[in-house]
Amino acid sequence: MSNLTAGTNAAEAAPRSAEEVAKSTGERPDRASSPSLAKGLFLGELHQDLATPYPMLDPAERGRVNGLIASLYEIRDELYDPRRIEEQRWIGDEVIAALGEAGLLGLYVPEEYGGQGLSQTGYCRVSEEFGRIDGTLAVITGVHMSIGYKAIHMFGSDAQKERFLPDLAAGRKLAGFALTEPTTGSDAFDLQTRAERQADGSWKLNGEKRWIGNGNRDVVVCFARSEEHGHVALILTPDMDGFDSPFRYDTMGLRGNDLRHLTFHDVTVPPENLIGEPGDGFQIAMNVLNNGRMSLGTGSIGSVKKLIDLTVEHIHDRQQFGQRLADFELVQEKVAWMTAQLYGLEATAYLTTGMMDAGVEDVSLESAMIKIAGTEFLWYAANRAFQLRGGEAYMNDSPFPKILRDIRIFPIFEGSNDVLRAFVALSGLKVVGDELEGLGDLDLLSPVRSGGLVLDYVMSKVKRRVAPSRLTHVHPELRPLAEPLSDQVGRLREQSERLLRKHGRDVRSRQHQQKRLAAISMDIVGQIATLSRMTAKMNREGADGTATERFIAETYTSRAAARVGREFDRIDHNDDHVTDQIAHVTYRRGGAGFELYPGDGPADAGTGEGT
Ligand SMILES: Cc1cc2nc3c(=O)[nH]c(=O)nc-3n(C[C@H](O)[C@H](O)[C@H](O)COP(=O)(O)OP(=O)(O)OC[C@H]3O[C@@H](n4cnc5c(N)ncnc54)[C@H](O)[C@@H]3O)c2cc1C
Repeated sequence: MSNLTAGTNAAEAAPRSAEEVAKSTGERPDRASSPSLAKGLFLGELHQDLATPYPMLDPAERGRVNGLIASLYEIRDELYDPRRIEEQRWIGDEVIAALGEAGLLGLYVPEEYGGQGLSQTGYCRVSEEFGRIDGTLAVITGVHMSIGYKAIHMFGSDAQKERFLPDLAAGRKLAGFALTEPTTGSDAFDLQTRAERQADGSWKLNGEKRWIGNGNRDVVVCFARSEEHGHVALILTPDMDGFDSPFRYDTMGLRGNDLRHLTFHDVTVPPENLIGEPGDGFQIAMNVLNNGRMSLGTGSIGSVKKLIDLTVEHIHDRQQFGQRLADFELVQEKVAWMTAQLYGLEATAYLTTGMMDAGVEDVSLESAMIKIAGTEFLWYAANRAFQLRGGEAYMNDSPFPKILRDIRIFPIFEGSNDVLRAFVALSGLKVVGDELEGLGDLDLLSPVRSGGLVLDYVMSKVKRRVAPSRLTHVHPELRPLAEPLSDQVGRLREQSERLLRKHGRDVRSRQHQQKRLAAISMDIVGQIATLSRMTAKMNREGADGTATERFIAETYTSRAAARVGREFDRIDHNDDHVTDQIAHVTYRRGGAGFELYPGDGPADAGTGEGT
């Protein structure tokens, strides 16, 4: 396969896991070392050249992005009715046609295939507006563009691109991404669907998939396993005999998203529908998800902006106890939290897309971070916004019930957040382990092999230009906020090394510590991104005119630094063992746990099998 990762040539033998992928590519002499801001932090390095100056969208593209966003809002005003979409359980063919005509379904597709040719940043800026308008719109467009036809765009042959992309970019066809199966969820490596190569080069596909958006539409990129060749990625079309969608799922939210069960009975898939080479399927799926996660994160940012708008409007109008809700401190606390978090998250998201646009090959950790932080921020922001709306929010004619129903799946799909946390931490630890004698071969990533593809950080110390752990490219007035980063980055390296030496391979199961390392690295990246963003603004507009924004940036940065400090402390001072024991007690005793009064519980409550 030619282009699994930029700068990498094909791994001839199909690797069996992400860990082996890393090893096999790592041994190649022509393999470029991949810089990564987040992975570098685990090594105690701060690659500020990746984060500064803060990336900007060039003015020409910005103009185009704004034009596309304007057309999106015209479509919303004329055609988009979320309530009707829920009732008819489909976004509507007329909406799809309008989005397609406006270029909104082919945002990053090169112009030669009829797309808009936007950068990752441009694409994510528009995705943000999808999320701001409606969760269902964000998901349907995301399924189509972010994951559905992404594999064709990233890894397809020229012939495949010519055959499929023009119709997909124009919205004449819709795409789906079929990975999940009844027994295969987070551990996506373990596919049961089988594809066996036939003598004529075609593939015979058997198995089933569940929860596939657009699964009964026009083009489905399906992942399967071949006994002989490993994982494969195949393009399916509905005209193929034996390819069926026997039913649609009835979902709590995103009710306009057509979610399907798919079955394959001896489906013959022609050889020209194989993406990449036999054996590349898993890497393709992971690359697509690494990339696609970004727009879920920026879509979540858009949704939070809408929640803030809804909240601010309400708390200014509504009076209780003789004053506006807006004037109560505990109301302000919630709004301020949303605003400050949003600032840092937005800075991180568009730093990451900017790095991708600049050709930084490895942003797998950063994109996982944005997915985790964005989707959870959205959920907690929705909770606060709901609270401030009071009982009105609970009424079905308010926007809140639908928002809550729609967004609850975000932390679960496209990589469940806890799996991604483990992926972030273990990928960072792997980089440290690779450097330490005797710890480079621990197969650290096997528990999260479906978290994402692993790229080698560096091949050797000799090749690496070691970066000092300081952020110096910041506006002089922001330096006091940049200084603590040196200590944080140093401690991250120190603690990572210590945990690796202490637990060795067992660090794979130390998820409490993994969660802390993930949180620390996320908050460090957040601080760097925020300071970089603010520096760019101050350099452009001067320190005086940017005081309000700076105040928010400073608040985000200092709060993130405080969280980092707390998480470091908890690495050594925690009650993890108690947590584990309580979980096991609960497993044994069941939900009823302990009776408040003797003899009060149901007869079968609590087996009392000891603690
Ligand atoms: C509305 C909707 C749309 C979807 N669209 C698509 C689609 O278009 N294409 C597609 O292929 N799939 C799709 N999916 C499937 C989705 O990607 C999966 O739900 C997701 O991958 C998680 O798998 P699972 O639900 O089987 O959860 P499981 O893998 O069973 O995990 C359940 C929970 O267990 C915990 N957990 C699991 N593993 C670990 C671990 N290693 N460490 C710690 N905790 C862990 C996590 O809390 C996790 O959330 C969709 C699902 C839904 C509900």
